[in-house]
Amino acid sequence: MECIFCKIVNGEIPAEKVYEDDSYIAFNDINPKTPVHILIIPKKHIKMFHSVDNEEDKNLIKGMYDIAWHIIQLKNLKGCNLLINSGSDHGQEVFHIHLHLMSKYEVDK
Ligand code: 5GP
Ligand code: ZN
Repeated sequence: MECIFCKIVNGEIPAEKVYEDDSYIAFNDINPKTPVHILIIPKKHIKMFHSVDNEEDKNLIKGMYDIAWHIIQLKNLKGCNLLINSGSDHGQEVFHIHLHLMSKYEVDK
Protein backbone atom coordinates (compact mmCIF):
# COMPACT_ATOMS: atom_id res chain seq x y z
CA MET A 1 0.00 0.00 0.00
CA GLU A 2 1.60 3.21 -1.19
CA CYS A 3 -0.93 5.63 0.28
CA ILE A 4 0.73 7.89 2.86
CA PHE A 5 -2.53 8.45 4.79
CA CYS A 6 -3.21 4.70 4.97
CA LYS A 7 0.28 4.42 6.46
CA ILE A 8 -0.70 6.98 9.09
CA VAL A 9 -3.88 4.97 9.80
CA ASN A 10 -1.80 1.80 10.16
CA GLY A 11 0.79 3.51 12.34
CA GLU A 12 3.54 2.88 9.79
CA ILE A 13 4.42 6.56 9.74
CA PRO A 14 3.93 8.94 12.64
CA ALA A 15 1.45 11.79 12.84
CA GLU A 16 0.34 14.21 15.55
CA LYS A 17 -3.11 12.78 16.17
CA VAL A 18 -5.84 15.03 17.51
CA TYR A 19 -8.72 12.55 17.27
CA GLU A 20 -9.29 8.88 16.53
CA ASP A 21 -12.21 6.45 16.58
CA ASP A 22 -13.06 3.22 14.75
CA SER A 23 -13.78 4.96 11.45
CA TYR A 24 -11.82 8.23 11.46
CA ILE A 25 -8.52 9.78 12.36
CA ALA A 26 -7.54 13.45 12.50
CA PHE A 27 -3.99 14.75 12.69
CA ASN A 28 -2.00 17.94 12.25
CA ASP A 29 -0.97 18.82 8.71
CA ILE A 30 2.80 18.43 8.29
CA ASN A 31 2.96 21.76 6.46
CA PRO A 32 0.34 23.93 8.17
CA LYS A 33 -1.05 26.86 6.19
CA THR A 34 -2.69 28.39 9.29
CA PRO A 35 -1.99 28.16 13.07
CA VAL A 36 -4.51 25.34 13.31
CA HIS A 37 -4.44 23.01 10.28
CA ILE A 38 -5.87 19.57 10.87
CA LEU A 39 -6.66 16.85 8.34
CA ILE A 40 -9.71 14.66 9.01
CA ILE A 41 -9.79 11.36 7.13
CA PRO A 42 -11.88 8.21 7.07
CA LYS A 43 -9.74 5.17 7.85
CA LYS A 44 -11.18 3.57 4.74
CA HIS A 45 -9.19 4.45 1.62
CA ILE A 46 -11.54 6.64 -0.43
CA LYS A 47 -9.69 8.46 -3.18
CA MET A 48 -11.66 11.58 -4.02
CA PHE A 49 -14.87 13.46 -3.26
CA HIS A 50 -16.26 14.00 -6.74
CA SER A 51 -15.99 10.41 -7.95
CA VAL A 52 -17.68 8.73 -4.97
CA ASP A 53 -20.42 6.44 -6.23
CA ASN A 54 -21.79 4.50 -3.26
CA GLU A 55 -23.78 5.27 -0.13
CA GLU A 56 -21.28 3.77 2.30
CA ASP A 57 -18.52 6.11 1.14
CA LYS A 58 -20.90 9.09 0.98
CA ASN A 59 -21.90 8.47 4.60
CA LEU A 60 -18.26 8.24 5.66
CA ILE A 61 -17.61 11.57 3.94
CA LYS A 62 -20.62 13.21 5.63
CA GLY A 63 -19.32 11.89 8.94
CA MET A 64 -16.08 13.83 8.54
CA TYR A 65 -18.08 16.98 9.33
CA ASP A 66 -19.19 15.51 12.66
CA ILE A 67 -15.51 15.03 13.52
CA ALA A 68 -14.85 18.64 12.50
CA TRP A 69 -17.54 19.87 14.93
CA HIS A 70 -16.07 17.69 17.67
CA ILE A 71 -12.57 19.11 17.14
CA ILE A 72 -13.94 22.67 17.00
CA GLN A 73 -15.41 22.07 20.48
CA LEU A 74 -12.26 20.32 21.69
CA LYS A 75 -10.00 23.18 20.64
CA ASN A 76 -12.52 25.94 21.23
CA LEU A 77 -12.02 27.30 17.72
CA LYS A 78 -13.68 30.65 17.09
CA GLY A 79 -13.93 30.24 13.33
CA CYS A 80 -12.56 28.00 10.63
CA ASN A 81 -12.13 27.15 6.98
CA LEU A 82 -13.20 23.72 5.78
CA LEU A 83 -11.86 22.49 2.45
CA ILE A 84 -11.79 19.35 0.34
CA ASN A 85 -9.61 19.39 -2.78
CA SER A 86 -10.87 16.79 -5.24
CA GLY A 87 -8.81 15.85 -8.28
CA SER A 88 -5.22 16.68 -9.21
CA ASP A 89 -6.36 19.61 -11.34
CA HIS A 90 -8.16 20.98 -8.27
CA GLY A 91 -5.26 20.97 -5.87
CA GLN A 92 -5.47 17.43 -4.48
CA GLU A 93 -2.02 16.01 -3.79
CA VAL A 94 -2.81 13.06 -1.53
CA PHE A 95 -5.36 10.68 -3.01
CA HIS A 96 -6.96 9.54 0.22
CA ILE A 97 -9.86 11.87 0.85
CA HIS A 98 -9.31 14.45 3.60
CA LEU A 99 -11.12 17.42 5.01
CA HIS A 100 -8.85 20.35 5.84
CA LEU A 101 -9.91 22.05 9.09
CA MET A 102 -8.06 25.33 9.36
CA SER A 103 -8.30 28.18 11.83
CA LYS A 104 -6.49 31.43 12.41
CA TYR A 105 -6.60 30.99 16.17
CA GLU A 106 -7.00 28.41 18.86
CA VAL A 107 -8.49 29.67 22.14
CA ASP A 108 -7.33 28.04 25.36
CA LYS A 109 -10.26 26.98 27.51
P1 5GP B 1 -4.28 18.19 -0.63
O1 5GP B 1 -3.46 19.14 -1.46
O2 5GP B 1 -4.21 16.77 -1.16
O3 5GP B 1 -5.69 18.65 -0.40
O4 5GP B 1 -3.63 18.22 0.80
C1 5GP B 1 -2.65 17.31 1.22
C2 5GP B 1 -2.15 17.81 2.56
O5 5GP B 1 -1.47 16.74 3.18
C3 5GP B 1 -1.17 18.97 2.46
O6 5GP B 1 -1.64 20.08 3.20
C4 5GP B 1 0.13 18.39 3.04
O7 5GP B 1 0.86 19.33 3.80
C5 5GP B 1 -0.37 17.24 3.89
N1 5GP B 1 0.58 16.11 4.01
C6 5GP B 1 1.24 15.50 3.00
N2 5GP B 1 1.99 14.49 3.48
C7 5GP B 1 1.78 14.46 4.81
C8 5GP B 1 2.30 13.62 5.87
O8 5GP B 1 3.09 12.70 5.66
N3 5GP B 1 1.88 13.89 7.12
C9 5GP B 1 1.00 14.90 7.40
N4 5GP B 1 0.65 15.07 8.68
N5 5GP B 1 0.49 15.70 6.44
C10 5GP B 1 0.89 15.48 5.16
ZN1 ZN C 1 -5.23 5.62 1.74
